[in-house]
Amino acid sequence: MNWVKKFGEIGVMWKLNPDNHEGAHALLTSGNHSDGFVNCSKIAEDPALVSEVATALIEMVNEVLGDVKPEYVVGPAYGAITFAHEVARQLGVKFAFTEVAYTDEGKMQIMKRFDIPKGARVLVIEDVKSTGMSALKTIASLEELGIDVLPVVGLIINRSGDPTLGDKKVVALVDVKMNIYPEDGCSICKTGSEAVRPKGNWEKLAR
Ligand SMILES: [Zn+2]
Repeated sequence: MNWVKKFGEIGVMWKLNPDNHEGAHALLTSGNHSDGFVNCSKIAEDPALVSEVATALIEMVNEVLGDVKPEYVVGPAYGAITFAHEVARQLGVKFAFTEVAYTDEGKMQIMKRFDIPKGARVLVIEDVKSTGMSALKTIASLEELGIDVLPVVGLIINRSGDPTLGDKKVVALVDVKMNIYPEDGCSICKTGSEAVRPKGNWEKLAR
């Protein structure tokens, strides 16, 4: 499967063609500009595609893990829930998710609704890695509970350009570095390209 092509066709991801100055680039909800955009809801809304994505992810993860089998698959809410659940279903193991909680240490990802035993082997699945914070916080909170987080994290799209999450290795169906620029320092704007919200303007983006 050519995931870049497939995801591009259905609005999951877009990456700037720097030679096309007629086309627009991405205005993110943060107000920053970018040469890329990811929307994994376009996968999550299609259960058959979620199943295909999970099968491919399991294959990549297994190449790293070898004979080691997880007992649970965990993803951070909300983005990774659908995918972690399907990976768990296909592996025939249990599933849980972590969710945002505001603590004295700031915004954390904690497991509120599930009870995974100490020492259980857990595979972490995430939809997209931008900064990687939600996956890192998920790993930290599980390890604090004495849970054995496996050394590989499965991602659908890694847009960070960094193949690690702390001491874990990252495998991703799509690896593509997407840069983020502040509105007043955007080098793409300087080429004459317009910044637009990708949702609703998909066909305007420079390809
Ligand atoms: Zn711009």
